[in-house]
Amino acid sequence: MIRFIALGTGATFPTENRNHPSFYFEYKGIGILFDCGENTQRQFRIAKLSPTKLRYILITHWHGDHVLGLPGLLFNLANLEYNKRLGIILPKGYKDRLLELIKIYEIPIDYDLDIIEVEKDGIVIDEKEFYINAMYVKHSVPTLAYYFKQKDYWRLYNSKLKEYGLYGKHGLLTHLKEKNEIEYRGKKIKIEEVGYIKKGFKFTYITDTLYFNRLIDFARDSDILVIESTYIGDPEKAKEHFHMDFSEAYKVFKNSNSNIMLVTHVSQRYEEYLDTIEQRVQTYDGVYLIRDFDKFWFEKNIITLELQGKTVKYLRDEKSGKNIKI
Ligand SMILES: [Zn+2]
Ligand SMILES: [Zn+2]
Repeated sequence: MIRFIALGTGATFPTENRNHPSFYFEYKGIGILFDCGENTQRQFRIAKLSPTKLRYILITHWHGDHVLGLPGLLFNLANLEYNKRLGIILPKGYKDRLLELIKIYEIPIDYDLDIIEVEKDGIVIDEKEFYINAMYVKHSVPTLAYYFKQKDYWRLYNSKLKEYGLYGKHGLLTHLKEKNEIEYRGKKIKIEEVGYIKKGFKFTYITDTLYFNRLIDFARDSDILVIESTYIGDPEKAKEHFHMDFSEAYKVFKNSNSNIMLVTHVSQRYEEYLDTIEQRVQTYDGVYLIRDFDKFWFEKNIITLELQGKTVKYLRDEKSGKNIKI
């Protein structure tokens, strides 16, 4: 099961209802935090989540709104007798700063801490069932976008396996999955004759960047795309401040063939108009504004979004990776 909770959907200035950026994502019990703005720990408590589930913290960049919560979180992980190995992924050049902070705050790290600087675009975490890819984007300081991708895998039809006499023959089936072809009872069997590829879930997080074309390839075929729209209807201002306007974020969504777009990091200047913005963005298919504590979960081919208490469901076709609203 995959689940996600937005812990902070604000931008530079937290507001009464929107915290600094921070997003909790969980895959089969493995917790992954995207950014860690100020007050993230309290958001964890309100969301009734335990930070001890965390295995990775992915930091987009070293601007306060995205990192100010990090020392506090590391401090309390020690107090919570955290005993896993924690991986922190950062843009190049920031490892020393983090180590310095740990020293300055005298944080008693007694767990395995693995701080990794991203040298170049590509896979930064490679686990058995998923990987995480990072790409440098265009902001005023070195900044990364990330995506989580569940690895594609072969699903075999039981009926076909029975037909070919392969049902229950685990050794042979492992071999078939590795080689895509086996010889059995004097006959060649290709894997596509007995199964299909199940497309793995893709979750993409893009924030604090100018619009540029490569964002489209990076977000390609996302099930869920969380993307910044710091500005609404003001692409000139967005450019000036190294951010995106909603129209640009939407372009990334549309052209990348992604399924669901969740808009975040909307500037506090629009705070009193958020309800109007929410209605406006929802006129686009698959587009939603997210606020703190909004969530989604993915189970048995259904993606359920819970946004401000309202529920929306999508049925996911595992062969095509397409999501259809139900
Ligand atoms: Zn920011
Ligand atoms: Zn920034």
